[in-house]
Parts: sequence; C-alpha cells; structure tokens
Amino acid sequence: MAIKLGTIYGIPLYLDYSWFIILALIVFEVAFLIMPYEYPGLSTGLYLLLGVLSAFLLFASIVVHELAHSIIAKRNGLKIGRITLYLLGGVSEMSEEPPNPSLELRMSAAGPLTSLAIAGVSYVGWLASLSVKAPVIIRGPLEYTALFNVIVAAFNLIPAFPMDGGRVLRSIIWRSSGDMIKSTKISATVGRIFAYVMMVGGVLLTFLVPSYLFDGIWLVLIGWFISSSAQGEYRQVQILRDVADLKARDMMSKTVDRVSEEITLTELSSQFLQYKHKGFPVMRGDELIGCVTMQDLRAVKKELWDTTRVLDIMAPKEKLATVKESDPAKQVLAAIGSRQIGRIFVLSDDMSGRLVGIITRTDVMRTIQMQESFLKNAPPPGPAGLERNIPVEVGMLFQIIAPEYGGINWSPSFNPGEFSLVSEQIVQIAPDKQAKQFTLQALKKGTFYINLNQPGDKKSSLTYTILVN
Ligand SMILES: [Zn+2]
Repeated sequence: MAIKLGTIYGIPLYLDYSWFIILALIVFEVAFLIMPYEYPGLSTGLYLLLGVLSAFLLFASIVVHELAHSIIAKRNGLKIGRITLYLLGGVSEMSEEPPNPSLELRMSAAGPLTSLAIAGVSYVGWLASLSVKAPVIIRGPLEYTALFNVIVAAFNLIPAFPMDGGRVLRSIIWRSSGDMIKSTKISATVGRIFAYVMMVGGVLLTFLVPSYLFDGIWLVLIGWFISSSAQGEYRQVQILRDVADLKARDMMSKTVDRVSEEITLTELSSQFLQYKHKGFPVMRGDELIGCVTMQDLRAVKKELWDTTRVLDIMAPKEKLATVKESDPAKQVLAAIGSRQIGRIFVLSDDMSGRLVGIITRTDVMRTIQMQESFLKNAPPPGPAGLERNIPVEVGMLFQIIAPEYGGINWSPSFNPGEFSLVSEQIVQIAPDKQAKQFTLQALKKGTFYINLNQPGDKKSSLTYTILVN
C-alpha cells in the first residue's frame, strides 16, 4: 500500500497511501485556518497555493529528518530497508537493532536535531524575507516550515518508545545498565504510559471541548499508534533474545521441492499443479542457480511453453535472498522482516552453492514458537513436572540419570511398594561433567511416578512417569 518515489543515498523512499490524508489535512489547515489568520485579505487561490507549498516543504522536512537517522545508521554499517512516509510522519525501517547504546543515541537524536536545524534555517530565511519585504508566497511557507519543524522535533522528543525520544531514553538506560532487553522494556513501558495519557487526554478533549474535537481524535490516534508500536518493538527484542543461539539451519525446512534449469515451461506448469507451491528453486545439479515463480510462468505466452526452458525465465541467484546454514537466526529475521521476501534459501557453508534448505515465514513463526515454549519449559529455573516415559517390566532393573544441571545433588522419591532403589553412583557424562545415576527395580505392574528432587529446591523437581508391564 505504498508508492515508491525514488532512491536517496541508496535508500528507497516510499509514500504510503495514508499520507494523502495528512496531505489533505495540512493543505486545508494551512490554506483556510493558518494563512487567513496570519495574512488576511488574500484570494482563495493564493491561500490554496500557500497550503500546497507549505505541505510540500513539510514533506521535504520529514524526508530530511528520516534521512538523518538513516545516514548515521548506514555509515555505521546498519542496513536501512527503506524510508516510508505515512499518516503520522515518516519512518526509517531498520532491519536490525543498533549494536550499542552510543550509536542508538546518535542515530535517534539525529532526526529531531535535524528538524531543529531546518527550523532555524527557515526562521532566519523568514526574518530575511521580512526585511526585504518578500511576497507572502515566500514569507508564509517559510514561517510555517519553521514552526512546523519545531513541533516535529518536540513531538519526536517525547520519551515514548519507539519514537526518537523513547530511543534516546532507551540508549541512556542501556548505557548505564548494559542490558538492552531491560532498557527496551522500561522505555516501552514509559512509552505506553505516555500513550495512555494521550488517549485519555484526547477522549476528554473530544467530549469536553467540542471545538478541539479534531485535536482530540488526533491525540487518541497517536496514543494508540505509540502504544501498539511500543508493544511490537518490545516483542521484537524479546524474539531476538530467544533465538540468539539459533542458526539458519535450525529454522529451515530440509526437504525442498526443486526443479532443474533444463525443464520446459510445460513441465514446470505440471510441477506447479502437482506441488501447489508458489515458486521453486532452480537447480543445476546440487547448486542453486535461481528461482522461478508462478508469476514468471504466467508472464510467458502459452504457445511458447514447449520451447522455453526454466533457465530463460527464472530470477537469477543474485536476486534471491540467501543465507549460509551457519548464519545466525538474527540475520534470517532481519532479511525476512526488512523486505517483502516470502522465502530465504539456505546454502551450505562451503562455497559450492549447494542448496540445503529453505526458510519461509511459516518456518520462522514455528521456530520462534517452539523455541519460546522450549525456553519456558526448560529446567531450571522452570516449572516442575517434566515427564519422562520409561517402559520397563516387573522385576527388571532400569536406570535413571539425573540431569547434569544441579550436579550430583539429586535424590529420588517414590512409593516404596512400587520400586526399590538398588544402587546409586556418580557417572562421568562428559569430560568435565558428572551426573548421578540411579539403578531401580520395578516391583509391580502399573503406571507409577518417580520424583527426582534437589534438597531445598522445590522448583527443580522432575517427575518420571514409569510404565511397568
Ligand atoms: Zn525521527
């Protein structure tokens, strides 16, 4: 839902359709409310022209504000996906979080400082235009631009994460605590408090002061936006922490349906019918050389399908999103989040270009879910009641090795009529790790439970479900 306007400093610039709403509002406000008040007695046409000119300068100011963020990020090696202008201003989409607090501070402060600088320049220009008695068409927009940029700077400096001021706040807490997750949580909470205050204030304004109806609704909208993005940003940081130890190979699907570069489009169309995929990796032997989608196929006339090969219509490998199998999960998330990419191809770590797997958005979601439930249930510190099923027979001796965490402090408990403890010993499970092994005997048929406990630590209790036949 956005139009690409062009590329500045290698960063694509997009205009979201919602921006036209704010454009219309600003033209209206400037042309019929602000300018007639400041410069009475002009023609409607001139007021409209003033409105359009001011809106254009506002547009340019916001682009420069976003560029300031993006350029500092880029110079420090962070990737910027794109800059998008939308209903509430602009946003620079970063595909990764800044690696350290001082970079985040410089990056986030750059925007509001740039807005202040634009305000200063416009103000000086306005003073100059006054002294040379320049026409209203120059004075008016300059005055508005100066005023507007002060508002933009001030508004962005509200310490409500993820706005610029909130990022400044996070970088300061982050620098002093050294804990990025914690500082994100604190600044996201501050952001939400601000957001709620804005929303409540907006509702009160709407009902109590009818002439401020419009401003009230605006406040509610901005508050709602801040609260939902604060939540989203915090979630994002949480996910990054949870997948910190994973690699691309942990997220990928290993079985990948693929097509050879040599097959014709007729054969390709039957592959699409058979597998119901939207696209296939194109292979030369084991090597990935491109990707072909249903759209690529549809773009070719049917008469040509028998004589055209996949090689002729595929998107070449250079245009695909690829990662190596040992690349960190973080990189996969950044790639899939920043661009509108449906799938990432995973290549082997050697330089052979061998395709080892594929990661789709579904794979990413599933990995995050599994990882989070794993981390939640991982003992310790975790909830008690982990179940292990060990099938045994009456009279049989069987062994339980206590988990290595907690060392050798484990001891078993069970109903005396169900099992007897034959022996316990310390075993070496790794060169530097010891664990406790219990040998037990099952005494009767049934499903019974053995608890392993650590003295004084009720949390680290494991329940083994033993099925005795
Ligand atoms: Zn900004």
